[in-house]
Amino acid sequence: MVIPVKLTVTGGKGGTGKSTVATNLAWVLAEKYKVVLVDADVECPNDHILLSAELGEEEDVTLFKPKFDYKKCTACGLCIEKCEENALVKFKEGYPFLMPTLCSGCRTCQLVCPEEGAILDDYRLVGHTYRARISENLELITGLLEEGEERSYPTVLAARRRAMRIPADIHLFDTMPGTGNHVAAAIEDSKVVIAVSEPTPLGEHDLEMILKLLKRLGLRAWIVINRSDLGSTEEHRRIADRYGAEIIAEIPMSDDILRSYVSGEPAVKMFPGGEAAKIFREIARRVEEVM
Ligand code: SF4
Ligand code: SF4
Repeated sequence: MVIPVKLTVTGGKGGTGKSTVATNLAWVLAEKYKVVLVDADVECPNDHILLSAELGEEEDVTLFKPKFDYKKCTACGLCIEKCEENALVKFKEGYPFLMPTLCSGCRTCQLVCPEEGAILDDYRLVGHTYRARISENLELITGLLEEGEERSYPTVLAARRRAMRIPADIHLFDTMPGTGNHVAAAIEDSKVVIAVSEPTPLGEHDLEMILKLLKRLGLRAWIVINRSDLGSTEEHRRIADRYGAEIIAEIPMSDDILRSYVSGEPAVKMFPGGEAAKIFREIARRVEEVM
């Protein structure tokens, strides 16, 4: 019997190869297991492009926003004072006015308001999630932030919830770059987190930030060095040692990956006997060991 696991692929900045690793790994694992791949890189999701898939069935992601009934509001100013996001400003005669993009939807204003019915429920659209079937064993959930929206966290959370409602052997998350709370929302509860990095000074810096976060969260960390022949990997080894992380694979620059990227097919599908496919299969084998 397979015990369901959650895995995450993350990386310091866009373009490190995180989505390439996630899509190839998902494809290999789906040969044996039921896999839900979750593209939680909500500002710029591209797993569907790398899998030549449509985004699929859409659901809205909305966030609470206060709607003021000025007939009931006494302009006491308490909601303005208590709003930690400074999303409420005083306008004429001291009545509150909402700056919607600053509002986190926390409802504090509604909770502290002494006048019943002065703050009503309203909602704003902050993003969408999508569900698409890629193959018999592989489904893709994508989170996509609404244009101009700055709060990515609710859409990441919505993608996570939608994905986790689908029964599967493996939920494989592909996060946003960086180490913000939007990344923490995706990696939480992961059996293992795969940090994809490049042997460059920026790659070293980003890797250290990610490993610090994973250590703080008590999560097991693996490292995949992408474009490993781009420079020396010595510093990556030192950082890995410092944080008790394991380098499980090195992927040199590869024509297979480049051509598969351009064609929108995973390298493991397009060049099943190639060197890149062998590396992705080895990563999948390591994943199976922790299942
Ligand atoms: S919901 Fe929270 S962030 Fe939005 S206006 Fe009310 S207190 Fe401020
Ligand atoms: S707390 Fe309520 S009554 Fe006071 S200003 Fe805000 S909405 Fe009006």
